[in-house]
Amino acid sequence: MSDNASEQERLGFDTRSVHNGRDPRLQGGMVNSPVYHGSTVIYPTLEELELSRLDHDAKGKVVYGRLGSPSTFALENAMADLENGFGSISVSSGLAAVTTSILAFAGSGDHVLMVDTAYGPTRAFCDGFLRKIGVDVTYYDPLVGENIEPMIKSNTKLIFMESPGSMTFEVQDAPKIVSIANKYGITTALDNSWATPLFYKPLDFGINISVTAATKYIVGHADAMLGLITTDEKSFYLVKKCRDLLGQSLAPDDVYLGTRGMRTLAVRVRQHQHQALALAEWLSGHNEVLEVLHPAFANCPGHDIWARDFKGSTGLFSFIIKPRPKKALANMLDHMKLFSMGFSWGGFESLIVPQYPEKSRTATSWEKQGQVIRVHVGLEDIEDLICDMESGLRRYAETNI
Ligand SMILES: *Cc1c(COP(=O)(O)O)cnc(C)c1O
Repeated sequence: MSDNASEQERLGFDTRSVHNGRDPRLQGGMVNSPVYHGSTVIYPTLEELELSRLDHDAKGKVVYGRLGSPSTFALENAMADLENGFGSISVSSGLAAVTTSILAFAGSGDHVLMVDTAYGPTRAFCDGFLRKIGVDVTYYDPLVGENIEPMIKSNTKLIFMESPGSMTFEVQDAPKIVSIANKYGITTALDNSWATPLFYKPLDFGINISVTAATKYIVGHADAMLGLITTDEKSFYLVKKCRDLLGQSLAPDDVYLGTRGMRTLAVRVRQHQHQALALAEWLSGHNEVLEVLHPAFANCPGHDIWARDFKGSTGLFSFIIKPRPKKALANMLDHMKLFSMGFSWGGFESLIVPQYPEKSRTATSWEKQGQVIRVHVGLEDIEDLICDMESGLRRYAETNI
């Protein structure tokens, strides 16, 4: 954080996203900070060269390209400030932010508790990599709350949350999980990609590590991959060391796109929220729709926790449509005009993908009938998006088999 942290505290989120991590006086008066391309850092004297070895593990020191540049530190400091963290650590993707956070705490012989509704590749990492290196992983129900306690083992090192859950949007009672974790000295991490620090700040709820797929809303334009890990002071050096040992490095232009995206994060995310609520509302009254899965809706598991802890909702949610043959689904999705099919989300454009939660849950089972559809609601005119969805649902309902 900057020296005038207490003064910064008084500024609002939007102001801080606009001003954090840049100082025109140091950049020839230019508004934006420069992009530093670089590997080698030059040391003018032998004394400085030798002293630099001590800086390898320090926060915000320019030592060698892989370990960060003034561009990287600008983004990291800006994010740490928005999340009320001690520091932020940038990595090459959202998934790298997940894996680095886990590997910083879990090794051979350790145990990790992972939420059953975790992002698919997070789960694949647990099953395909953690188990291979001798880490024991147990999946838990996202609605477990304080009943996580009996699942804790003497070797449990980390409880990983993702709230709301991927695909189906269950909201976790993170404060309850944190209070149990603290009793046993276990580190807690939460994937906060959905809410962004605008609507949820994990560290304010006692979580040690906030993981963000910055690829999504921070970059915001579907044009770069980026991950950010914001931590408290005691976790910072462990996570940074893990990142550095793994040889993670970031392309300077992608770091810049992250910093640039952050300037407009708040306005974009508020508009995504507004659009998604309008579409969800419209869908909830549609004859083909069985259920809307959106944390701001009272039927969403954990809705009360969302209302208590979150300051808003974003553009990503799911809904369930009546079961019909695959041909009907293809007829709906293949001819959408504005909702494109594609993975990822958080950019300015609308996206749609079918989801199959029944295939990837082990601690809980997905019993609901019907096809789950996940949408990311972009920044197009909402009337146009509703019109596109209306035609799609008509094709779905009217496909002759
Ligand atoms: C997309 C996503 C990630 C991974 O981010 P990438 O930048 O695509 O690697 C992690 N967690 C969640 C919840 C995501 O949606």
